[in-house]
Amino acid sequence: MSVYFSKIHGNEALRQRIGESIAKRSHSHAYIIEGPDGSGKMTLARSIAAALSCEDKAGDTLPCGECNSCKRIFSDNFPDVTVIDSAGKATIGVDTVRRLKDDVYLSATESDYKVYILSEADKLTVQAQNALLKVLEEPPDSVVFLLLCEDSKRLLTTVKSRAQTLRMQLFSPEELSEYLEKNSSDARTLKRTSAEKFGAMIEGADGRIGAALDLCDSKRLSEITAKREAVDAVISAVTGRATYSALYDAISSLPQKRAELSESLSMVIEALRDLILIKKSPTVSLCYYFEREKATDLSSLVSLKRLCDVETLIEGALDSVLKNANVNIIMTSLISDIKKCC
Ligand SMILES: [Zn+2]
Repeated sequence: MSVYFSKIHGNEALRQRIGESIAKRSHSHAYIIEGPDGSGKMTLARSIAAALSCEDKAGDTLPCGECNSCKRIFSDNFPDVTVIDSAGKATIGVDTVRRLKDDVYLSATESDYKVYILSEADKLTVQAQNALLKVLEEPPDSVVFLLLCEDSKRLLTTVKSRAQTLRMQLFSPEELSEYLEKNSSDARTLKRTSAEKFGAMIEGADGRIGAALDLCDSKRLSEITAKREAVDAVISAVTGRATYSALYDAISSLPQKRAELSESLSMVIEALRDLILIKKSPTVSLCYYFEREKATDLSSLVSLKRLCDVETLIEGALDSVLKNANVNIIMTSLISDIKKCC
């Protein structure tokens, strides 16, 4: 057995470790799978469930993805794999966990294992988590719990101590870009047809391969492209010898609504930090730029002092935006402050 969880992108070390433990049947009875939306948590959970019930014991991939059990698990149609979510509610209460506990001690019907996927474990109330503890402490041998969450800090320490935590890998823009070019024809097409859209997709994915693949083909991509273009215009105005009107146009074209403006200002700060860092260390991992060459070129146009000064001014503006100060006044004084430090 050599290939584990082929439906998951990246995360090689994690896949190897869990795959081997399942192949040897030395896996844990409970895992917390932590990572933001689009990082592959559910795919990993279904893959673990499929690996436990896969009928192809002699093949070189686990799960095989082709046997009857694998196919039914991946299409959410297998009696021994139960997915529990909040059904659109804000929390998952103790009643849901009580029903789960009644079910846990019944034998599996088709597999050797019963798997419970709690796809929004961070919505479990404290009472629900306490109710779950007992069964996490003494689970039947054939049961595996998979608790999916964006941030395991929301889980009780007592719950965390009874499960192994698996963190989904996040990728730098460069790693994501390289990975997608190698593995996704949609991403290759996007890069060939529009470098701006490809860049926006990398930005919007925020390090998550699943999210990047979703974005390759979506309307949301146009929104992110527009946001990124506005940020690029600000960076170009502050790095070049921009006239007052170019600076004014660039900053005025940022969104006016507070939430969107703060997001755009954060992106400008990320971009400026990339330019500052690349001046200090050419191989540093970048946050905003996915093309190192572009960041290096932009960074070479402007002094370190100016980059730092502008970054401080934009941080100040973001701070005021977040403190509910008047957006027009903040942006007008930002333009004049940047112009003054030219
Ligand atoms: Zn299979």
